Amino acid sequence: MTISFNIECEDCSKKYRIRYGLGNNYPQLASFQCYDCSKQIETGYNVFRGDRILNGATVAKEEYDNPEVQVINLHPEIPTKKGKENDPLHFQTFDVFDNLHKQKANFGEFRIQQIVWSKFHSKWSDLEKPLRILSTKGEDKMKSISKLNYRQFCNLFNEWMTIFISGNLESIFDDICDEYNSIDTDDIKTFVNAEPKFLKQINEFCNTYMKHHQHFQSTVFHLKYGWEITDEMIANINWDDIHKVYGDLYEIIGDLFVIPTMMNNVANGRKFDEFQTDGFTLDKYLRTDKANRAMNFESNANLAHLSLSYDSSLRNGTHHKNSYLDTDTFEVSLGTSKGGTVEKKIPIIEYIQKCNELFGMGIILSSLILEMKK
Ligand SMILES: [Zn+2]
Repeated sequence: MTISFNIECEDCSKKYRIRYGLGNNYPQLASFQCYDCSKQIETGYNVFRGDRILNGATVAKEEYDNPEVQVINLHPEIPTKKGKENDPLHFQTFDVFDNLHKQKANFGEFRIQQIVWSKFHSKWSDLEKPLRILSTKGEDKMKSISKLNYRQFCNLFNEWMTIFISGNLESIFDDICDEYNSIDTDDIKTFVNAEPKFLKQINEFCNTYMKHHQHFQSTVFHLKYGWEITDEMIANINWDDIHKVYGDLYEIIGDLFVIPTMMNNVANGRKFDEFQTDGFTLDKYLRTDKANRAMNFESNANLAHLSLSYDSSLRNGTHHKNSYLDTDTFEVSLGTSKGGTVEKKIPIIEYIQKCNELFGMGIILSSLILEMKK
């Protein structure tokens, strides 16, 4: 369903007619920058049939014939094609049909996937509190406050994770489980259980993404179905809100990579903390630069996929305030070198996709770590 309404920029009074494609999931948010004064304007809904959110602009009266009213197509869950963002006859949903048609995918199945996906946020609402209590105060407190024992908590976490990874990421989860089941994991379990930091990292990782999860919705189905991401796509997001998310996820998953690293050591006939290079220890590994944390398991077919979206240059380029979103081209300019002499640009849609992939890998690892603590 597309909802149309007129607004006026709060700062410069430029008039817009918003055509908002209603998504399936709540909360939902879509955002753009004012064409005249670059004010961030965002709109969406927190709950089904709830009041409309409108930030940076005010509601204006309907004006169908005024050519000065700029049409803006927004959709919280589907990327808009470049060149179509102001087309008064364009519906983003058609692009989804197009993708399904190209893949000869079953529309009924897609609807089911959509319905399952729409529960992702409410499942998180059930999980957020016990995860926080477990990671900061321990199992007993979680049980007394949230009425969940550890096993029930793990089930809840896995249900939530499964909603996200259902589709193309499932095989990555299967592979890591295969690897885990084929090796002797006793020493790794002992290591994990002696380290309370893991639970805190999982809590931090999930919250980092979920706090801004509305901004990452537009490529979730591309990830699930393997639809192509091209630089012809625009995501309606607020860059200021999300420019640090990739780097924050990157830092934490870099720490969680100790798990596949130890698994790979065991899989290659060594002790969990023994590396191929003589004299290289787990202690040394934990002090290496984050950029190298996935190197140890990159030739292990069951584990290598975990680092697919692990990209130190994207982390360095976006984690500082000198990256910005060019709202004419919808590209992110990355400050890649000291002094900013080298400018690299990537489409915003690619940034969104990388965040989604990295998040998927992180919750797969988190689920395994929780399993080890049973
Ligand atoms: Zn304005």
